Amino acid sequence: MDPLFWQHKSLEQMNDAEWEALCDGCGKCCLAKVIDDDTDQLYFTEISCQLLNQKSCQCNDYQHRFEKVSDCVKISLQDPETFQWLPPSCAYRRLSEGRPLPSWHPLRHRGKKSEMHKAGASIRGKTISEVFIHGELQDFIAWWPLDECE
Ligand code: SF4
Ligand code: SF4
Repeated sequence: MDPLFWQHKSLEQMNDAEWEALCDGCGKCCLAKVIDDDTDQLYFTEISCQLLNQKSCQCNDYQHRFEKVSDCVKISLQDPETFQWLPPSCAYRRLSEGRPLPSWHPLRHRGKKSEMHKAGASIRGKTISEVFIHGELQDFIAWWPLDECE
């Protein structure tokens, strides 16, 4: 794989391996979200999906995620609406908006995620699994998922 593919290729031109490598593994897309019915405003919460590993920030069963979690969303160019669910720091969203990858992105650090965690750009240490939540989602709205952590 060309280590700088994300600088030379558009999202449409990327192959499957490049598309997957683009994901920083921050875990923010696996947080529960709330939409205000009156304004259509999207809010992130600090509640994470039951399958999200709180330490690695990755899905505990990525291969079978759609079978296990009915509302898990596949990010796809064929379904542009899925991009509206992504946080501003997300690599897919950034490139689709013509912005570069952030300085902490694993692709800038030979695949290592330590800079991302250090920059506070992942969910590590900030979330509660949905299995422990009783109550309304709106009581758990969080603003940190909107940080770009440049
Ligand atoms: S928010 Fe984007 S970059 Fe982060 S884990 Fe989700 S898809 Fe990957
Ligand atoms: S099932 Fe989907 S939303 Fe849940 S942790 Fe896995 S990838 Fe994220």
